[in-house]
Amino acid sequence: MTPALREQVRQRAKDCCEYCQMPQSCTRLPHEADHIRAQKHKSPTKLTNMCWACALCNGHKGSDASAYIPDTDELVRLFNPRVDEWHDHFEWDGPELHGKTGIAQATIELLKINSETRVSHRRMLIEVGEFPPDLND
Ligand SMILES: [Zn+2]
Repeated sequence: MTPALREQVRQRAKDCCEYCQMPQSCTRLPHEADHIRAQKHKSPTKLTNMCWACALCNGHKGSDASAYIPDTDELVRLFNPRVDEWHDHFEWDGPELHGKTGIAQATIELLKINSETRVSHRRMLIEVGEFPPDLND
């Protein structure tokens, strides 16, 4: 990946994770340019297949393309920031991310977005007014 492409991905996302919305400014681990469809699955390294992801979301996602909805065990594709509208799938319930769709619930589970440490990190950021970020245009 070229530095220019990486920068385009970062700016398009306003330097926030496109899964859990964590701003880079609120975490020490560096955000990464994620291949939505992994290179392992013969995906292109281009803007339409890339998203900006925090190290935790990206690390848990790995090369996966699908996951199970926790309550039903139905296998579904993961949330795709290039195809899906974030607010159609997710909403904040305080520091916890709520999945409105099976795709969102499976993504939250696989990426461990509501792990205890991540929820308490967000709770602290909410208290100081730094979360969630204003991502409206
Ligand atoms: Zn994230």
